Amino acid sequence: MSLAALLNAVRALHESTPALQDFAPFPKGLRAANLPPMPCRAASLLAQNPLPGNRQTQPVTAALCAAAGQAEWRQTYSEAEVGAAFLANYGYLELYGPSGHFHTNTARGYIGYWGPGLRYDWHLHEAEELYACLSGAAEFQARGVPDKTISTGGTAEHACNQPHAMTTTDQPFLAYVVWRGAGLAGLPQMEVA
Ligand code: ZN
Repeated sequence: MSLAALLNAVRALHESTPALQDFAPFPKGLRAANLPPMPCRAASLLAQNPLPGNRQTQPVTAALCAAAGQAEWRQTYSEAEVGAAFLANYGYLELYGPSGHFHTNTARGYIGYWGPGLRYDWHLHEAEELYACLSGAAEFQARGVPDKTISTGGTAEHACNQPHAMTTTDQPFLAYVVWRGAGLAGLPQMEVA
């Protein structure tokens, strides 16, 4: 399995999921950027313990676990910001986007892993965002709206610069995250109290 197989599985999920289609079309004209692999602990965990999905998401989780060793995994927070335990249990890859495995300047899609019992504290970014849960479940908080728990197949949306936070359950949480709009090439920032 390869990153191209992962891209195809994500495209099939995206194009068959109304919430994703309504948020943004899957980008066309993607070019392989041939990013060098970058390991992280989350990738090793995924490769050793493939995570379950549901009927719609399982092709993506299977392709991700198979391609985990080829991906360029990122962690954009420092230990001072989020702590060592968080960094040991989190990682994401940019599947498509301005700096992704498949290049486009019109959209951005990530796959993120967060381990069990993890608190992803308040953060924000300019781009609008849709989380689609691939495996596990997490409680989402977003300023100004009620808390919401999403599980496999569920989605959570965040508006431009709306602070949000997330807490995983006793299972790992895996999500496909799509950005749209202004700030597409930016990064999330932890909210400073
Ligand atoms: Zn976000």
